[in-house]
Amino acid sequence: MRIGCPKEIKTREYRVGLTPRAAEEAIASGHEVVIERDAGAGAGFADAAYEAVGANIVDTAEEVFATAEMIVKVKEPQTEERKRLRAGQVLFTYLHLAPDPDQTRDLLESGVTAIAYETVTDGAGGLPLLAPMSEVAGRLAPQMGAWALQKANGGRGVLMGGVPGVGPAKVAVLGGGVVGTQAARIAAGMGAEVTVLDLSLARMRQLDDLFGREFRTRYSTRGAVSELIAEADMVIGAVLIPGAAAPKLVRRAQLAEMQPGAVLVDVAIDQGGCFETSKPTTHDDPIYEVDGILHYCVANMPGAVARTATIALGNATMPFMLALANKGWRQACEDDPHLLAGLNTHSGKLTYAAVGRALGLDV
Ligand code: NAD
Repeated sequence: MRIGCPKEIKTREYRVGLTPRAAEEAIASGHEVVIERDAGAGAGFADAAYEAVGANIVDTAEEVFATAEMIVKVKEPQTEERKRLRAGQVLFTYLHLAPDPDQTRDLLESGVTAIAYETVTDGAGGLPLLAPMSEVAGRLAPQMGAWALQKANGGRGVLMGGVPGVGPAKVAVLGGGVVGTQAARIAAGMGAEVTVLDLSLARMRQLDDLFGREFRTRYSTRGAVSELIAEADMVIGAVLIPGAAAPKLVRRAQLAEMQPGAVLVDVAIDQGGCFETSKPTTHDDPIYEVDGILHYCVANMPGAVARTATIALGNATMPFMLALANKGWRQACEDDPHLLAGLNTHSGKLTYAAVGRALGLDV
């Protein structure tokens, strides 16, 4: 099969769908790989690294889309990319169709077979192609929050680990799933005093068994949230209710009870955010202040560490990409119900029930 990887064109997206290692695996399995010139540059992969493993570099996205039987990307196809998709072609990338009627219509009109990273499942009930990005965002959250806490950036001027004779920063993490756990581990590793709040006792038992010495857990109630945010230097928002907007766990009025210059890092901003005062920001201008409290609400945090994020995503997508290439999408999906769960559109038909429900379309 001919596998194509265009350069991402969404603003400030530096990741790339295929790493040279993934290209090498596909070529070793007998496939042809076509990469748009400079597609990997933002993630630190030069064209020469792809050529060294036998991939062909082409000058334009048009050449990639026109000739490839499967397109492997990172972000949902943008309007001009969607015009290039066609029936019989497989698109393997993040799509997030539920809130995006325009993209859904274009994919259906193109007839492309679109398999969405975010709806591929695993045997443990998880989302294996979303988890690596949650791990990246979670581990990045205390790093960005610590930067915002510095006085020159508007923060309280508190050092995460303290120093001998001065106590560490206090960090509250709302939600102890993938993002929250990774955030808590890094914040604790920086020396902060960390408490994770969750609603799931089973999850908190797991966290306590694994990390009991590194950070504490608290059952998430309104009262516990109020108590912890009042003394926190940093609050990390990492809650998720699958398929729903994030619950607002901190209201604007509560900011007055917080320490001036404390930092809110709302990782859940891509689901609307869990602080009432959150609004999406970008890497260009990541923080803003409301009532003396700093907010960091970047909706695509992994973009800041494009190289790590690309490799992490590539590790997770590679087995599925190879199965699609080796067996063809139909057989690969027949053999693996978890990959089949990723199928969102085929030949002009919507094949994912939740997207149909969200957009009022037949499935
Ligand atoms: P997850 O499902 O692994 O974890 C969510 C946790 O929140 C669960 O343990 C759940 O029990 C808990 N929870 C739900 N309601 C709660 C409440 N009221 N109080 C306390 N805990 C509560 O999800 P995840 O992978 O960790 O993702 C968390 C959020 O981060 C999602 O919205 C995800 O989309 C987002 N995310 C954002 C970025 C970014 O760049 N901003 C990147 C990756 C993920």
